[in-house]
Amino acid sequence: MNIQQLRKDTPGCEHVLHFNNAGAALPPQQVTSAIKNHLDLESLQGGYEAANMASATTDRFYQSAATLINCTPKEIAFIDNATRAWDMAFYSLSFNKGDKILTAHSEYASNYLALLHRARQLGLTIEVVANDASGQIDLVDLTNKMTKEVKLIAITHVPSQGGLVNPAQAVGEIARQHGVTYLLDATQSIGQMPVDVQAIGCDFLCATGRKFLRGPRGTGFLYARQSIIKDCNPPFIDLHSATWVEDNSYVLQASAQRFETWEQNIAAKIGLTVAIEYALTQGMTQIWARIQKLATSLRQQLAEIPGITIRDLGQEQCGIVTFNADNKSTAEIQQYLRTKHINVSLSLPEYARLDLVKRQISSLVRASVHYYNTEEEVETFCQAIKTCICEL
Ligand SMILES: *Cc1c(COP(=O)(O)O)cnc(C)c1O
Repeated sequence: MNIQQLRKDTPGCEHVLHFNNAGAALPPQQVTSAIKNHLDLESLQGGYEAANMASATTDRFYQSAATLINCTPKEIAFIDNATRAWDMAFYSLSFNKGDKILTAHSEYASNYLALLHRARQLGLTIEVVANDASGQIDLVDLTNKMTKEVKLIAITHVPSQGGLVNPAQAVGEIARQHGVTYLLDATQSIGQMPVDVQAIGCDFLCATGRKFLRGPRGTGFLYARQSIIKDCNPPFIDLHSATWVEDNSYVLQASAQRFETWEQNIAAKIGLTVAIEYALTQGMTQIWARIQKLATSLRQQLAEIPGITIRDLGQEQCGIVTFNADNKSTAEIQQYLRTKHINVSLSLPEYARLDLVKRQISSLVRASVHYYNTEEEVETFCQAIKTCICEL
């Protein structure tokens, strides 16, 4: 990878040391210009007319997303964010009283809230699969919990709050053996590592634009396997997801577009298309190797600082690095780093109660690296952490 060129493409690199890629990555200027150009076109030509002029690009969105995760364009829906994408899949499924849903300790708060919501409405049971010794989902416990009541496995591939990578493919094999629907939250893995829905074997997958894909905020997508779409009854429909064929009847779209709405942020959809194409040009294997190298280096150097504890779980770890300091709160660290133009996030129990409360963690500093970050930035970052925790 030509890191110098990639950084030149990324104007934000001149202003900040950005280790908040799991929050929202810095976009390449190709993405930002595509969005701005379309907004200009809308202002000069009219929104509908501009959309027609840009239809070749917005059509390309489906092919690009399909190439990224190895599916067909008809299995992709453009949705405002990963949460809504996940919801559209989940709330499309029919359950009966007494049905069981399996999830994992690392599950994202919004997903778990939706599980609770429907469990209350419909009388469902939620069971949380144990972690194994490394902290990833325990495949033996999952297998043991696969009773005939289980109708859905819903897990998160890479949690928001740490370096863990759950064994999504092994979970997929178990789901397939039992013929159980599998909904995977890939919000943090898409754009960070190769994700192949055929290899993983999931029925649904949700993704967001702004994180490792480096796309605009307010974008995301849903993958729905062709064989499951016909059984999905979306919670909301409109004149795009369905056709009003007679006064009293309608037909749902046969493709994943049954999960979409007619009105879309076209500029943002173009921005997301360009972001996906930019990632494909770099190559997901190359991106993943570079992120792992930088993250390993960051973990090693942080671990050498007295008073710093790394908190990441799992056998396989990704570009999200979480830690605590003995003598400084996470908020103090974040504030200090901010004065040095270094960006990180904090992970709090309300984002992932089952994980963080169980581990008795009240807050974590989350430093998440991307391929456009550098070894020099890792060193600068660790130096800043040293200075911060030595200050009285
Ligand atoms: C950020 C995140 C989400 C939510 O994504 P949005 O696009 O903000 O809806 C869901 N799951 C995980 C694991 C996340 O990190």
